[in-house]
Amino acid sequence: MVKNHKLALSISDASWAKFVGMLEYKALWHDRVIQKVDTFYPSSQTCNHCGFVNPKVKDLKLREWSCPDCNDYNLRDENAALNILSEGLRILTAAVGASDALNAYGDEVRPGEIQEPVALTGSPA
Ligand SMILES: [Zn+2]
Repeated sequence: MVKNHKLALSISDASWAKFVGMLEYKALWHDRVIQKVDTFYPSSQTCNHCGFVNPKVKDLKLREWSCPDCNDYNLRDENAALNILSEGLRILTAAVGASDALNAYGDEVRPGEIQEPVALTGSPA
């Protein structure tokens, strides 16, 4: 990009900030939520199938890898995208704290047997 590393960093920071700003106003416009994930979250290194963190994947040249724990085949970017989605949803759920309040805590949620209709008139047959 730019030979001066500090200048390149400033330019990429400014562009990223502009991009995030555009995402935020568009999200607000369309009544959506933007959830940021920690910069140091190991999205590329974490297997999206089992959660195993593979430190060998820090090498950016390694574009695809098989998880030593579950043998799942991971494409670096696709794996990172899935992990970022999961992490963002996890953070949002924790922040809102509503997901548990909206479910039945493991109780039966299906209606029981269909019952006979109740007569509304009240007159004996
Ligand atoms: Zn795995």
